[in-house]
Parts: sequence; C-alpha cells; structure tokens
Amino acid sequence: MCALRTDDPPPGPGDGRVPQLRSSALLAQAICQACWRQERNGRGICSGCNRLKVFAVKAERLCKHCHQDRLAPKLLRRDAMSFTSP
Ligand SMILES: [Zn+2]
Ligand SMILES: [Zn+2]
Repeated sequence: MCALRTDDPPPGPGDGRVPQLRSSALLAQAICQACWRQERNGRGICSGCNRLKVFAVKAERLCKHCHQDRLAPKLLRRDAMSFTSP
C-alpha cells in the first residue's frame, strides 16, 4: 500500500522539525501520509459500521464516515430547533 514517499514527511505531533535521528525518524518518514495516519490512529473494527477501518477518532473507535454520521444528527437537531421557533 505504501509508496515509500520520503519527500513528503508526515507532520510530527507537536514538533515541526525532526532531528536527524537515523533509526526511528527514517522509519517514520518511510511511510506515506495515509499509512502514517493509519499507524497513528490505529486500525480496527469500527464501532459504528463494524468494518475494518482506519479510525478517525481513536478514542471512540469510529471511522471517518461514522464519525461524520455521528456529528450529523447534532447539526440537524440544532437546525430543527432554530426552524421550529417562529
Ligand atoms: Zn502508504
Ligand atoms: Zn465506521
């Protein structure tokens, strides 16, 4: 899956620049952003759709799709409330 793109290193958590550490830094940069996100958020069975997905929200074990689905009702409800009030 990984195209081994070393020209586009993934952003580190917090630190903008990565020192020239050969061992771990090289390993971290040897994956593309998609793979990096997968490594970072983890992958497993989504609690929303019960499919093997890359988690968008690791704490809730939700994939990106289910995470957005979960956000949608809140927005709809807020819209409905603003609509019902004359
Ligand atoms: Zn990749
Ligand atoms: Zn899902």
